[in-house]
Parts: sequence; C-alpha cells; structure tokens
Amino acid sequence: MGIQSVGIVGAGQMGNGIAHVFALAGYDVLLNDINAEGLSNALKLIEKNLDRQVSREKISQSDRDSALGRISTTLTLTDLGQCDLIIEAATEREEVKQKIFDSLLPHLKPETILTSNTSSISITRLASRTDRPEKFMGFHFMNPVPIMQLVELIRGIATDEATYKSLHEVVEKLGKTAASAEDFPAFIVNRILMPMINEAVYTLYEGVGNVRSIDESMKLGANHPMGPLELADFIGLDTCLAIMNVLHDGLADTKYRPCPLLTKYVEAGWLGRKTGRGFYDYRGETPVPTR
Ligand code: NAD
Repeated sequence: MGIQSVGIVGAGQMGNGIAHVFALAGYDVLLNDINAEGLSNALKLIEKNLDRQVSREKISQSDRDSALGRISTTLTLTDLGQCDLIIEAATEREEVKQKIFDSLLPHLKPETILTSNTSSISITRLASRTDRPEKFMGFHFMNPVPIMQLVELIRGIATDEATYKSLHEVVEKLGKTAASAEDFPAFIVNRILMPMINEAVYTLYEGVGNVRSIDESMKLGANHPMGPLELADFIGLDTCLAIMNVLHDGLADTKYRPCPLLTKYVEAGWLGRKTGRGFYDYRGETPVPTR
C-alpha cells in the first residue's frame, strides 16, 4: 500500500513546514498540537508560504489549493492513529517526546512507521521504548523545510532495511535529498553547526565582539549566508541549548559545554524570532541587536 497519510505531532516552526511539503507532494496530512492557537497560526503560515511560492511561480494556483485541501488539524493526538507515517516534531525535550509516543502507540496500526524530527536525541533510546523499534527512525528536516534540500535519515540500532527504504522513497517523492547519519548525538548537521553557534555565543559572552560584529565577520569573512547569532535566533535558542546539552551529556566532552549566556537568554524567554527577541529584538521594523 505504501505511505499515503502522514500524522505530524507539533505544529511549530518545523511541524508547519513539514506539513507544507508533504501536502504539496500529494500526501494527506493530519497536523496535531496541544495549542489551538499554534495550530491555527500554522495553517495561516502554510497558506502564506504557499501563496509566496505561487507568486514566485514555483507552484501553480491549483497545486496550492490541493495542498491546502490535504491538510487537516486536530487537538486530539489519538486521531493520528490511522496514519501510515507519524512524524513527531514537538518541543526538543525527551520527556515531551516520550509522553507523545506513549499516548499514541496503543492507537497505531501495526505497520505504521514512527519517526522523530529530533535534532539531537538518541533515536535508539526513543525507539527502544516503543513497540516497534524496527519501524522507528530519525527523520530530520532542516529549517525552513520548504526551502532546505537536505533530510537526514537516522537509523536506530534496530531499524530494519524496509523502514529505511520506505523513508528514502518518501524523501525522493518530496523532491529532497537524503543523507544517512549514524545515531550519535546531534547526528551530522547539528554536530558540526551547533558548536559553531555556541562558540559565537562565547565570543559574545567574552566580549571579543558584539552581536553585529560577530555576524558580519562570519558573513563577510567566511561567506556564511547568515551570521551565527542570527541563525541561532532563527533556529530558536531553546532548541540550540537543548542540542548543546545533548552533545555535552552524550559525548562527555567539555568542549561541548553550553555557553552560560545562551542559558541566560533561554531563562529570560528570549528564544529568538519565535518569541520576538533573542540576540536581536524583532519587535520593530528592523532587527536590533540586544548586545
Ligand atoms: P517549536 O517550539 O517551534 O514548536 C514545537 C511545537 O510542539 C509547539 O507548537 C508546541 O505547542 C508543540 N508541542 C509541545 N508539546 C506537545 C505535545 N505533547 N503534543 C503536541 N504538540 C506539542 O519547535 P521547532 O523548532 O518546530 O522544533 C520541533 C522539533 O524539530 C524539535 O525536536 C527540534 O529539535 C526539531 N528541529 C528543529 C529545527 C529548527 O531549526 N528549529 C530544525 C530541525 C529539527
């Protein structure tokens, strides 16, 4: 039968982008969140992003209309029980993800593939607590999902070949490129990217540069399209901190210790773009550095 329907848990930055690309590729999407406002905002954002693709002539008006028609939302997690594929894209906290899987498992079809979009948490450990470790995989999309080409596929120790092949086919149907990563903390992209972002925060913390000079230096001096602090705000500082903690705990090497300034921003609730303030303040017309 293959995969036709996809249940997505979490309608935040990643969940809405994942819903967007699956609907556009012809899958039926059921999007779940615990927050009703979050769900309606996600739908509005998907509509806006699809409209932008129409205006840039990347997709047709009828592609846009059919994609929107394929997305439904629900506040009830167990409604996702009949989906062929589940993508968990909720907050980057292991206990949150664990609770979601625990509640969902009794309602799933035996053949349903279970995946997590986690940026860093052990796939093998998440899988081992389910009834289907062989049908469990890391399915790591990049932000913003409609634009970024790569999807990391992470096999847990028990993941079977059929599951890997099914997800590889899904990635091809989405028009994206799969990269296989082994299941070690933060996989490939974030294992390399996050220590760089964390080092940029240390550079700020130690006064080597300010927000603007650090971002300008990496844009003009290393040809990065975004500065590391701008990128951290885009990803979400809570997510960045969570990934650094996973690297630090999982690899037991002090080179991964999260910068105390990153922790302070998260404690303040200054999580970046999604809360209006992080290393930049986004509440006015143009972003203003906060340090
Ligand atoms: P986010 O904070 O934007 O969204 C998380 C969403 O999960 C929120 O809408 C929240 O209401 C919802 N949620 C929390 N608990 C829930 C529950 N029990 N049931 C249903 N929904 C629940 O976070 P995000 O940036 O979208 O990140 C989501 C996941 O994707 C994380 O695992 C993160 O590591 C991963 N990820 C993030 C990025 C990125 O750049 N932000 C990139 C790749 C992967």
